[in-house]
Amino acid sequence: MIEFIGVDKKYANGTTALQDINLTIEQGEFVAVIGLSGAGKSTLIRCINRIHGITKGTIIVDKVDVSKLKGRDIRKFRRRIGMIFQSFNLVTRTSVINNVLVSFVPELPMWRKLAGVFTKQQKIKALEALDKVGILDKAFVRVDQLSGGQQQRVALARTLAQSPDIILADEPIASLDPVTSRIVMDDFKKINKEMNISVIMNIHHVEIALEYADRIIGIRKGEVVFDGPSSKVTQGI
Ligand code: ADP
Ligand code: ADP
Repeated sequence: MIEFIGVDKKYANGTTALQDINLTIEQGEFVAVIGLSGAGKSTLIRCINRIHGITKGTIIVDKVDVSKLKGRDIRKFRRRIGMIFQSFNLVTRTSVINNVLVSFVPELPMWRKLAGVFTKQQKIKALEALDKVGILDKAFVRVDQLSGGQQQRVALARTLAQSPDIILADEPIASLDPVTSRIVMDDFKKINKEMNISVIMNIHHVEIALEYADRIIGIRKGEVVFDGPSSKVTQGI
């Protein structure tokens, strides 16, 4: 499903963020990428959907060589990969449902997205996604009136409405308290197991990673230093 073959990533300023990464991730896996700050976790995730290009090697996603994609094909490709950020990236001055609906028309300017261009079918799909993450009752509330955990679940619903094969999550619980973190992680787990969507998540809470993920990839200084089931993780990644 996702394959890294001899991947290096060097940033324009000369920093080597990834070095000789070789990985295969199958459809439906829940993978946590762990490691110290600066280890290369975020870079690793962002190379999968071409936010960053790579310097050497090949990344294959669903038989597509990611480095070879151009222009429109990149946008099409990204539609199949959901992305969740630490900062939620929501449109704060509008309702929850509008935030989910915008995922159907990413290419339109915001004012058109909010001007009721959606079909009934899209609205139903958006409400279903909100139901899946347990915040259907908030559909018509303004996003900025929700708690951090609820906002992250809106972001997750927005991603689900896209019907992705893969969700990439870059420190999704880093700004949430421990209780809320678990509610959000429960949603990720549910989506992963019930919908067979692959989840690849950067997370610096090792304990939570071990509890929720099936597989742990440990990164240190741009290299994979551990790759295996959560039960086999030893100290010091
Ligand atoms: P992590 O997610 O594990 O904290 P990152 O992938 O963000 O690590 O960073 C890996 C390395 O690449 C670090 O040394 C970081 O400073 C560097 N880095 C990250 N983004 C950039 C960038 N846009 N330009 C230059 N260096 C970067
Ligand atoms: P940076 O070193 O600043 O992170 P990147 O390597 O992420 O730069 O990419 C710089 C620009 O080049 C981006 O706009 C990206 O879309 C484009 N790009 C990256 N990799 C490729 C590639 N393999 N083929 C074509 N364009 C690429």
